[in-house]
Amino acid sequence: MAEQSENTEQAGSKKQGKTGAKASGQNSGNAMAKADGQGATSSQATESRFVQELADQDDYSRWYLDVVYKAELADLSPVRGCMVIRPYGYALWENMQRGLDERIKATGHENLYFPLFIPYSFLMREAEHVAGFAPEVALVTRAGGEELEEPLVVRPTSETIIGHMYAQWVHSYRDLPLLYNQWANVVRWEKRTRPFLRTTEFLWQEGHTVHRTEEEAETETLMILDKVYQDFVERELAIPVIPGLKSESEKFAGALRTYSIEAMMGDGKALQSGTSHNLGQNFARSFDIGFLDADNERKLAWTTSWGISTRLIGGLIMAHGDASGLRMPPRVAPIQAVIVPIWRKDAEREAVAALVSEVEAALRAAGVRVRSDWREERPGFKYNHWELRGVPIRIEIGPRDAANGQVVLVPRTDRTAKETVEKGAVVARTQALLAEIQQTLYDQALAFRQSRTYQVADYAEFQARMADREHLGFVEAWWCGDATCEAEIKAETQATIRCLPLAQPEAAPGPCVHCGRPGVAWAIFAKAY
Ligand SMILES: [Zn+2]
Repeated sequence: MAEQSENTEQAGSKKQGKTGAKASGQNSGNAMAKADGQGATSSQATESRFVQELADQDDYSRWYLDVVYKAELADLSPVRGCMVIRPYGYALWENMQRGLDERIKATGHENLYFPLFIPYSFLMREAEHVAGFAPEVALVTRAGGEELEEPLVVRPTSETIIGHMYAQWVHSYRDLPLLYNQWANVVRWEKRTRPFLRTTEFLWQEGHTVHRTEEEAETETLMILDKVYQDFVERELAIPVIPGLKSESEKFAGALRTYSIEAMMGDGKALQSGTSHNLGQNFARSFDIGFLDADNERKLAWTTSWGISTRLIGGLIMAHGDASGLRMPPRVAPIQAVIVPIWRKDAEREAVAALVSEVEAALRAAGVRVRSDWREERPGFKYNHWELRGVPIRIEIGPRDAANGQVVLVPRTDRTAKETVEKGAVVARTQALLAEIQQTLYDQALAFRQSRTYQVADYAEFQARMADREHLGFVEAWWCGDATCEAEIKAETQATIRCLPLAQPEAAPGPCVHCGRPGVAWAIFAKAY
């Protein structure tokens, strides 16, 4: 299928030759600079015109940065630790937002918006909260040409300012529950940053609800974890997750209980992919969110908060990416199918163009996010370009296809599985194939997690598992519930308790994997991002 005009071919290979060297020379320089989070502006714009080499997945952090920058998801910003989300990355985020927002609204929540700035005194009101966030807070002390009477915090999260307002909105039990969510940016001053995974400013949604009873707050916290977060991440992003309870030392600053969904990345490390907190009455007490109950007594309310952020884009990259780059789950892919026209002579180009237009229009009308690539480049260059960006389906249309009224479909998940499809069947087959690819990505991620989940005989084997970089994964074991024991495990192996899965074994607990005392919970241990 590699037909192309002589002239284009030549021009293509010249470009390739010249820049092959240039690109690989730039590779190391750029990646090094970017790995440090330094070197503000880059030459990505020119570099992206050429076929690009990715770092080997054995060097996973380099590979990750290569994918982020070369697939043009994000770029460095002149402000250290911040990132610029480029159109391809932002289109992905918009599709993720849509899937999440639908679920948030379908479960009875409404969106609203709070200010970026929070009075400094608000943050100080909840003791655990301020202790947890103070080191990461950015303060505005001067504005409008003068010192501010009270410094303003750039929100690291909005519990405090929202609590302040909720106190004024809630009066009676009839006002409850309050079920609100906001889409916003937040700032946490991070020392070591990595695009999407840990950035000083990031985008997210934060839900904040108020309830009449502890039970209602707990039900809400778990409902969000299950019906909103797990459902969204598994169905839309095709990433299997383990829902569970965080240990005391890993919970949110100021929460009664924190639940999370945990996913395994391609290097066997864990990524906390969403959290849901039962805040108990801590924030209600600090901000005086009370209500007159049916028995005419004034009572303190119970609150929750929950969030998913652009961090999950990092999760998507690492859960599905391969040696050729990204693999986008079709449901959130900015481009679901790319048409690559192939021609040799002008006359052929016309026939090919007619079929490309017809197929593109039919797919678009059916709601498929499709694009055709008419750039003056060799087909091989284009295949590589779109594979790196993870486009789920490539559609090849050459002169013979035009003559026969057919196209060739190639799934990103298995490029040897080409299939020729008659043009009248393209829409139906593309839609079916997108669904198959979505399922394949999920199945592969789940199989990988299962193959990298270990139950160990003793602590020596636990340590050996955490030291084995090539086969790194999750260890499932009994834990005594003691924070000191947990801290020792972390110090010795770098593994943390990711969560105590909601699905606990039915068997009676065995001894703690580290100290041998009676176990109280079945835990997932892993190194984590
Ligand atoms: Zn122990």
